[in-house]
Amino acid sequence: MGFFFTPRFVLINVIVIFQCFSLPTFAQDFDFFYFVQNWPGSYCDTERSCCYPRTGKPSADFKIHGLWPNYNDGTYPSNCDPSSPFDRTQISDLVSSMEKNWPSLACPSSDNTKFWSHEWNKHGTCSESVLDQYEYFETTLNLKAQANILQALQTAGINPDGSHYSLDKIKSAIEEGIKLTPGISCNVDGSGNSQLYEIYLCVDSSASNFIDCPVFPNSNCASSVEFPKF
Ligand code: AMP
Repeated sequence: MGFFFTPRFVLINVIVIFQCFSLPTFAQDFDFFYFVQNWPGSYCDTERSCCYPRTGKPSADFKIHGLWPNYNDGTYPSNCDPSSPFDRTQISDLVSSMEKNWPSLACPSSDNTKFWSHEWNKHGTCSESVLDQYEYFETTLNLKAQANILQALQTAGINPDGSHYSLDKIKSAIEEGIKLTPGISCNVDGSGNSQLYEIYLCVDSSASNFIDCPVFPNSNCASSVEFPKF
């Protein structure tokens, strides 16, 4: 009985209470990043269609969708820090590269702020312990420069010409060109064809190096997929 309310008892309680409240911070940690690029022709070639950004039609290349903190079990944290809103003025010197490499194709046409803000709020705020807002966008642009998916495909004779290609050949072409096994997801065009949509590569949790993916997203692709024009 003499132990209760002694300085030692109070100290132990303070430590336990502190640890309980700090748990959510640990729960927001993550294991690796997915670096996701998508093919604008496939984003646009669906029933929903698309709108070009106000800067005009993007070039025919894979574009960045996002850099997403993920867990090894396939789940992921999201919207981790509402107190850290997207601030375009913080990345003003990255904007012209972002317009080229990370354009929004959502309707109505925009200056991309909504898309970039969505990516920062949903995903970027979950890796703030590693990358602040500027670093998050800068790092993602650098990853894009290191992983030229279109070049890898075209080297293997796989071109965005509206024809169908075997999914295995697409995967092998990326493995050959980038030296990494990609995750691949598909969507469906207006006529119901499965088409090449997103390419997932994995990056370590310090965002420094590409790594073999600990887990792949479910591939919803047919064994032969369309590679539409853009
Ligand atoms: P996320 O919430 O980050 O998993 O991204 C999913 C959303 O991003 C979906 O609503 C997609 O339609 C959208 N999305 C994917 N690519 C683009 C793009 N290039 N422009 C605008 N929205 C996109």
